[in-house]
Amino acid sequence: MSFQVLGLDSHILQAIKEYGYTEPTPIQAAAIPPIIAGHDLIGIAQTGTGKTAAFTLPILTRLAEPGKKPGTKVLILAPTRELVVQIEENVLAYAKHLPLTIAKVFGGVGERPQINALRSGCDIVIATPGRLLDLMGQRHGNFSGLEHLVLDEADRMLDMGFLPSIKRIIQALPKKRQTLMFSATLSKEIEALTHEFQHHPKTVQI
Ligand code: AMP
Repeated sequence: MSFQVLGLDSHILQAIKEYGYTEPTPIQAAAIPPIIAGHDLIGIAQTGTGKTAAFTLPILTRLAEPGKKPGTKVLILAPTRELVVQIEENVLAYAKHLPLTIAKVFGGVGERPQINALRSGCDIVIATPGRLLDLMGQRHGNFSGLEHLVLDEADRMLDMGFLPSIKRIIQALPKKRQTLMFSATLSKEIEALTHEFQHHPKTVQI
């Protein structure tokens, strides 16, 4: 199978070609079309399967549509600073031919640059839940125009005790949005999260 048939934006196809990907991984082939179509989705996949591109490529395709307003349209929550940095590197590579701005938010470093990045109304916020909730509590970040929420490595975020923070963050987001969740395992807790925050999600299991 080729990336061409999945419905991705041409700027993104160009970028992934330059990055050296020749064909989609199984999770990408299965997840990209329903995400572009606007469905909620739960992806059960380990790291190393190409899951990051499975959610970033279709979301970037939606952001590339004409007539998008300025402001934050995507929030990606991830368990660790390392994962936030890794997701940003991927997004920067795939979006290199698109004029999108990204803010990273995580603990253990100064808040000020992150506050400034949020203030600039970046298109995409990639964050760990604890620090993001802190900054939202100080009234930073404007998620009133949010269209896509991703919970990456949701099982790890639950293991790390982020559930209360995640719930409070989601309460502050628009109800009408696409919610994508990725997890290595499908536990009772993950099913409860799906039930609470997703709307008729498709399941993709690799
Ligand atoms: P992930 O599962 O998202 O952590 O991705 C694992 C690795 O696979 C990363 O180094 C990606 O750059 C790489 N990768 C993702 N999609 C593809 C693809 N379609 N072809 C080749 N490599 C890929």
